[in-house]
Amino acid sequence: MKILVPVKRVVDYNVKIRVKADQTGVDIANVKMSMNPFDEIAVEEAVRLKEKGVATEIVAVSAGTTASAETLRTALAMGADRGILIETDVELQPLAVAKLLKAIVAKETPGLIIMGKQAIDDDMNATGQMLAALLGWPQGTFASKITLSEGRIAVTREVDGGLETVDLALPAVVTADLRLNEPRYASLPNIMKARKKPIETLTPAALGVDVTPRLTVLKVEEPGKRKAGAKVASVAELVAKLRTEAKVI
Ligand code: AMP
Repeated sequence: MKILVPVKRVVDYNVKIRVKADQTGVDIANVKMSMNPFDEIAVEEAVRLKEKGVATEIVAVSAGTTASAETLRTALAMGADRGILIETDVELQPLAVAKLLKAIVAKETPGLIIMGKQAIDDDMNATGQMLAALLGWPQGTFASKITLSEGRIAVTREVDGGLETVDLALPAVVTADLRLNEPRYASLPNIMKARKKPIETLTPAALGVDVTPRLTVLKVEEPGKRKAGAKVASVAELVAKLRTEAKVI
């Protein structure tokens, strides 16, 4: 079975982001970029399935600028077999990415798609669901455990009240949650090997997809600064402050 793993290049999770002075977005000039953490989990899960002999090939796909090839190299160093870069300078929104991925699915016919539940830059949490809808495939989102059997996949999902398990027919779309696994670090020999693995470059136009943004960002603002707290000497003082200063009781 072939597994398709979409991976997005995002601002590294350790970076303290800055809003651009003109409030049109986040400043990514000279900022460390990495693979979206949930996509690392998705790659890891696919690699484990290949190690178990369940998957035969892992194809990583990333849509974005030429720099997204770096993200594909990371996926290849973790164990993916080949990469597809869909190159564009247009800022992609989830519907555009879902349409691009649908076109890749038509070309590659994977038996399973494992992707991140959300990209930590825009926090959209939409691409997997949109892709499943466009393909007419079942979806298992927020996966914390997956079990494959003949032509089916059981996906344990993290829901508000606890865990829910859904049983889906393959091919299906699974989106990875934090507890699905702990992704490996790519070893140096594997990073070297990844340099020789193939990356095919395509464009949205070649895939027949219009990626023009449908949403307009009006303004991006930093959250308001939190005020410092104060220590109180007694419960009586706390109650008095809650009554007279905070006016919440
Ligand atoms: P989002 O819906 O934007 O929160 O993203 C959810 C998931 O869709 C990510 O974790 C990725 O697996 C995938 N994805 C989103 N954008 C891209 C992209 N530009 N290239 C490849 N995969 C993407």
